[in-house]
Amino acid sequence: MVVFVGAGPGAEDLITVRGQRLLKEADIIVYAGSLVNPALLEVRKDSCDVYNSACMTLEEVLEVLIQGARTGKNVVRLHTGDPCLYGAVKEQMDALAKEGIPYEACPGVSSFCGAASALGAEYTLPGVSQSVVITRMAGRTPVPEQESIRGFAAHKATMVIFLSTGMLPQLQEELLAGGYEKDTPAAIVYKATWPDEKVCRCTVETLARTAEREGITRTALIVAGNVLDGRYERSELYNPAFSTGFRKATDGGRDHE
Ligand code: SAH
Repeated sequence: MVVFVGAGPGAEDLITVRGQRLLKEADIIVYAGSLVNPALLEVRKDSCDVYNSACMTLEEVLEVLIQGARTGKNVVRLHTGDPCLYGAVKEQMDALAKEGIPYEACPGVSSFCGAASALGAEYTLPGVSQSVVITRMAGRTPVPEQESIRGFAAHKATMVIFLSTGMLPQLQEELLAGGYEKDTPAAIVYKATWPDEKVCRCTVETLARTAEREGITRTALIVAGNVLDGRYERSELYNPAFSTGFRKATDGGRDHE
């Protein structure tokens, strides 16, 4: 069995309980060494074989996963954040399926959630934005034409942009071209939840300048949107005048038999 495990955004105690148990039981761990905190591996058995996929091709990774699973070993493929975002897991899953090897996935805390905690932000604020766009700039991996930053920016929803820290002049231009105001609040969150985390608040217009000033070129998320502004309407969920499935209006939250 191969399990694709989300390692979380960085801090070694931000993996799930299940993910850590799988690491403890693993005979083989293949981890994404470019972004996974190696401290996570400390719980492994002495006999566990560890591979760093940063130095391997897909074929080499598959060889380790397939041979391990065929010889009855517990194999963990450890990906940063949650494996479902920019994890290149589907191609591994499909290759395993083709070989008849069973696999599962164990979710993790994505870095976009780590960034929200670093910012003390809620991405969905009443009267401001109720949607989050997770996207990236086209790089060596292309992005479909209909998913341009400019197109998404026109919605003025909250945007969290992955894998784009090296392209901030173009990113800010696209965000502005799409319709964000120049002074729309933005932030660069470098290594969210790691000990050397850095949070730089700025505006859409000053993203590139801010990253340059702070020397940030990678391992960062860009967040843009008025949810970073601090102005919003109170939630209906906890409004005394609003009934929910758990609470009648004006009840004050007291528990009744
Ligand atoms: N599956 C991962 C994303 C992998 S893509 C997840 O769910 O988070 C790699 C990109 O994620 C990086 O280029 C960076 O944009 C972002 N990233 C990963 N970890 C990060 C962290 N701790 N802080 C900020 N950005 C991070």
